[in-house]
Amino acid sequence: APAPPPARHLFSDPAEVEALRGNLLAWYDRCKRDLPWRALVRRDCGNSALLPAVWVSEIMLQQTQVATVINYYNRWMQKWPTLQALAQASLEEVNELWAGLGYYSRGKRLQEAARKVVSELAGRMPRTAEDLQKLLPGVGRYTAGAIASISYGQATGVVDGNVIRVLCRLRCISADSSSPAVIDRLWDMANVLVDRSRPGDFNQALMELGATVCVPKAPLCGECPVKQHCQAWCRKLFGSPPKVPDVEDCGVGDCPLCPPATEPWDSSLGVTNFPRKAAKKPPRVMRTATCVLERRGCHGALEYLIVQRPGSGLLAGLWEFPSLPLAQDLQEEREREELADHLQAWMGRPVAAKGLRFIREVIHVFSHIHQTYVVYSLSLDGDVTLDPALSPSRWVTEDEFHASAVSTAMKKV
Ligand code: SF4
Repeated sequence: APAPPPARHLFSDPAEVEALRGNLLAWYDRCKRDLPWRALVRRDCGNSALLPAVWVSEIMLQQTQVATVINYYNRWMQKWPTLQALAQASLEEVNELWAGLGYYSRGKRLQEAARKVVSELAGRMPRTAEDLQKLLPGVGRYTAGAIASISYGQATGVVDGNVIRVLCRLRCISADSSSPAVIDRLWDMANVLVDRSRPGDFNQALMELGATVCVPKAPLCGECPVKQHCQAWCRKLFGSPPKVPDVEDCGVGDCPLCPPATEPWDSSLGVTNFPRKAAKKPPRVMRTATCVLERRGCHGALEYLIVQRPGSGLLAGLWEFPSLPLAQDLQEEREREELADHLQAWMGRPVAAKGLRFIREVIHVFSHIHQTYVVYSLSLDGDVTLDPALSPSRWVTEDEFHASAVSTAMKKV
């Protein structure tokens, strides 16, 4: 087993742990934000038929800001308040409600998990972090800990991006915070810290602190309820070695949680020296030709053709304008010809490349893909018979388009 890290990176003094819990919870009781899932969570423990409020909020909040989530959350809970209701929904309905929230597999997996609870677990939600993670698709270690502690009162810690930042600062951890070794240490620390009598509130308080006070770029250390326990703050205030000798030793020797000697403390960054992450891989660059096919519908309104993407992979099951991934560095003329060939095979009638009107390029950045859509349009006279062996497709008005399960990228297009 690897040697435990030096005490300066741990919470080993029970009196300090007790004081930190008390300070953080008192601050949370005074300052917590009024969020819709917090109002609903008290009912989770009592009525097992209900869809746990925290489960939905935690899945929606993955990679997504609170302000964006609230509206989606309220609509979701109104539409599917119980496990049974969500289990009976169609994937199309789930995708329609989720449209614009991104990372679409989250909604699909949430619904699959509700189906599993209803059909295989006799409608009973698992209530411990271990069972939640083991039994429910889409529920990882963090989400399991959040549901178990907040909804069901299990004394188990959680580690998300906010908690990583707060703990790394509290204990001056500056080894790569995305490495499995550091993440394991942070989980150990979160499990030591979590308040035994109010675990859900404690975990929410730690995350709330990261979201509102101990923020990435300009943390409000002066207002922080746990600054007296924060080694990064001490180091910023009393940078000289004699005041905090244990912290100043960081970087010396082979401590697994200290920065390498080649990346010493940068006093211009202050507490934002922590956490540190290995450089991200640059996003993959992709180019896709897309064609907005339009026609006059029977009532004279313009209609647009949308087709459904495959059921797996990026934006699975969502609808889009007919699109074709392009090789890099194609000439503009060649791109247009390839798109025309694609449309021709698909519609079973000739499409002249020069008939495609270039509109403009639209860029959309997914988490790992830098996508450029090269947008064309084509007006059609008369009806088009699409090959039924190809993807499902339908004609929609502009309003219907916006109400369909389409991605933000397609709305930009
Ligand atoms: Fe974060 Fe500053 Fe509080 Fe430390 S004192 S936990 S760096 S906000």
